[in-house]
Amino acid sequence: MSTLLVPQRGELPHPVPRALSAPFWKQCAQGKLVFQRCSSCRWACFPPAEVCRNCLGTDLKWETSSGRGTLYSWTVVYRPVTPAFEAPYAPAIVDMEEGYQFLTNLIGIAPEDIRPGMAVTAEFHEVGSGLHLPYFRPV
Ligand code: ZN
Repeated sequence: MSTLLVPQRGELPHPVPRALSAPFWKQCAQGKLVFQRCSSCRWACFPPAEVCRNCLGTDLKWETSSGRGTLYSWTVVYRPVTPAFEAPYAPAIVDMEEGYQFLTNLIGIAPEDIRPGMAVTAEFHEVGSGLHLPYFRPV
């Protein structure tokens, strides 16, 4: 029997929140997943941007995501790129209900049980330095 994937436990290398991404990280600490939506064309924008990737509009407003989506793609890492990461872990791309894609890591499932299109939901875990990462697990 295989072990379920779990959140990372140690101090991880991570991006430093900037003016553009700070609202995202602040909401993660509250257990909320947020994204930007373009006021002009309604495009769901993620990662945070100053300009809409669809119409180049500049009026982007934050919205709260349901945190639900389906698995688009993934890989399982058995040899981490740095010793900071505990293997195995599964970086994944999730198609979010709101129409954007989210790069994350899967938890709560054994690597061999991961399937394309499976329903997943966000779950937040603190990983050192007060950073709360959105992981996704099967619904
Ligand atoms: Zn737009």
